[in-house]
Amino acid sequence: MNPTTANHARLDEWLDTLAHETDQARHSALFTAYLGAMARFWSYSRRNSMLIFIQRPQAQYVNSRKRWEELGYTLKKDQWRNSIQILCPHFKKMRDDAGREEETLTHFTTGYIYDETQVEAGLHAQPLSAPWSASTADAGDLFDVLHRTCTRLGVTVTERDDLADALHGYADGAGHIVLNSRHTIGDRTQTLAHELAHEVAHPRNKRGEFTRQQVECQAEAVSYCLCTAMGLASPNSPTYLALYGVSRETIQANADAIRACVHTILREVERATGQQAADAAA
Ligand SMILES: [Zn+2]
Repeated sequence: MNPTTANHARLDEWLDTLAHETDQARHSALFTAYLGAMARFWSYSRRNSMLIFIQRPQAQYVNSRKRWEELGYTLKKDQWRNSIQILCPHFKKMRDDAGREEETLTHFTTGYIYDETQVEAGLHAQPLSAPWSASTADAGDLFDVLHRTCTRLGVTVTERDDLADALHGYADGAGHIVLNSRHTIGDRTQTLAHELAHEVAHPRNKRGEFTRQQVECQAEAVSYCLCTAMGLASPNSPTYLALYGVSRETIQANADAIRACVHTILREVERATGQQAADAAA
């Protein structure tokens, strides 16, 4: 057998190994940390968030020296040499053949940024906002209604205090949702909406029909719609969706499934609200 034919024969085997290792990497602590960096630096390009992560895995907030100064922070004396280096794209306005103006990428230069451990807060420094804004809404009633909705849909809910801080909760695809009891009631309500969407739209026997991006896009969009319908703001939804590479097109492509799931859950929310009112009057 010539070497090319021999290699062809082993391709499947190699791809299988690669897929297996990729799966393992996805579950590794390093990859989880990388996802965290992607979520924190979502306003940077995928390439730059990776550059930040490689150079300073622990970074929580990064800014250019100029931006830090605007925020009231100064660079520590010994830190100016220790910048994190990223790529800054430069564009030039050009005219295409039809005379339309378009921006063309001409080159990259090195950008220098610093994380919060490299600066000192001045007297009037602005507080750094949390990358994940915890919901402080008084969502007790909404949580209760959503909890009853789960029961109506045959889904049980357990709250646990031993989950990792960053883990909001999960659904097992078999009618059971687990929530992190240490999170605020607003956060738990949003997580419950997201996980309930998974249970309704992606039960275990149907899960194989979707990509990871599809299931997360659908669940988070459903949660966003449910929370909006119930008057609870969901400021983290876009970041969450961006983390999964979801774009406008992805949401549009999943719109029918999202609508169907919202419809199913909202109908039960209405019944659960009626039940809650009846129980209160009794
Ligand atoms: Zn999810």
